[in-house]
Amino acid sequence: KLHNTVLELKGNIRVFCRVRPLLNEEIQNNANSDVIHRINFIDEHTLEVGKGVVNTSSMSGLKSRGNNFTEFAYDRVFQPTATQAEVFEEISQLAQSALDGYNVCIFAYGQTGSGKTFTMEGVPNDEELEGMIPRTVKHIFKNMEELESKGWAYKVEASFLEIYNETIRDLLASPKEAKNLTYEIKFQDNKKNEIYVTNLKRIPVENEGKVHTLLNMAQQQRAVAATNMNEQSSRSHSVFQLRLSGENSKTGDSCEGMLNLVDLAGSERLKESKSEGARLVETQNINRSLANLGNVIMAIGQKQSHIPYRNSKLTHLLQNSLGGNSKALMFVNISPVEACLNETQNSLRFATRVN
Ligand code: ADP
Ligand code: MG
Repeated sequence: KLHNTVLELKGNIRVFCRVRPLLNEEIQNNANSDVIHRINFIDEHTLEVGKGVVNTSSMSGLKSRGNNFTEFAYDRVFQPTATQAEVFEEISQLAQSALDGYNVCIFAYGQTGSGKTFTMEGVPNDEELEGMIPRTVKHIFKNMEELESKGWAYKVEASFLEIYNETIRDLLASPKEAKNLTYEIKFQDNKKNEIYVTNLKRIPVENEGKVHTLLNMAQQQRAVAATNMNEQSSRSHSVFQLRLSGENSKTGDSCEGMLNLVDLAGSERLKESKSEGARLVETQNINRSLANLGNVIMAIGQKQSHIPYRNSKLTHLLQNSLGGNSKALMFVNISPVEACLNETQNSLRFATRVN
């Protein structure tokens, strides 16, 4: 009985956990450690993490476990060996539903270095390592072709923005172009009830190749804006948006879908006590906006009457794509590094709460 109630309360967000492999330099650093952070993969939905002592004398070669392991279950767990193609396979249907007029959100949550950008954008100019953004665009164009025979014609537009310190920056506009422009979230009070950002560029995407141009442009804007690029990008949310408007010449039907692919700010606990001045404000903004995202998702799942969308720029921007008639998925990205165990457990707990 209780079990049923819990199921009913479950949000409409799916959670996929992805564990990245150890990088070469990390393998070298870990070689002499006898107490290691271990992640055991139980099945497609379940993993457990904790500290284990490597028992080298064990005849079976099995490493004995301590008893301080915690089990976590999600809609899907991807091991380090999972390829980009395998991961995309599991989200392709969701991405495609934007063509049917759904608003879709896909998030990557996790500490800095856990694989969020690898998952979302992938490695530039390497087809095998392309992330979810380019794969989604490809998939959508392929499906558009098939829908053409049924009379559908689509217009596709992309925006790419960053929310840094609760201010919006257009990643597709040069600093010169953006000079003197303000970026505000607005609500269009008409049939579409669209949330949009004033002055934000919407670039027509005519073919799947165009997405690489956009990702490169964004990379350049990030580079000119920050002296230490990784530093700043780990402290901002980046949101790639695709607007899909379809019209059917045979039936007269039309539909509007929106796809949001969000690379969230690093979830590592930022200590307010350690920062001051501008850095303190920044730290508080990041902590608050990630916490608020969790609160919004939980409030939707629990069907609360008040959803605190307006408490942060990110959830305000995504208001139409979270809850209601929309679909959402969150990747929780995990690093296998021993020193990351605490943050790994924090991320896994966050993901359990929203799932
Ligand atoms: P984040 O965006 O969360 O800070 P990154 O995506 O930049 O983390 O990943 C950190 C490092 O790990 C990068 O060098 C990246 O190429 C590598 N990496 C992440 N995920 C994988 C993966 N699944 N397979 C191989 N390398 C990965
Ligand atoms: Mg990143």
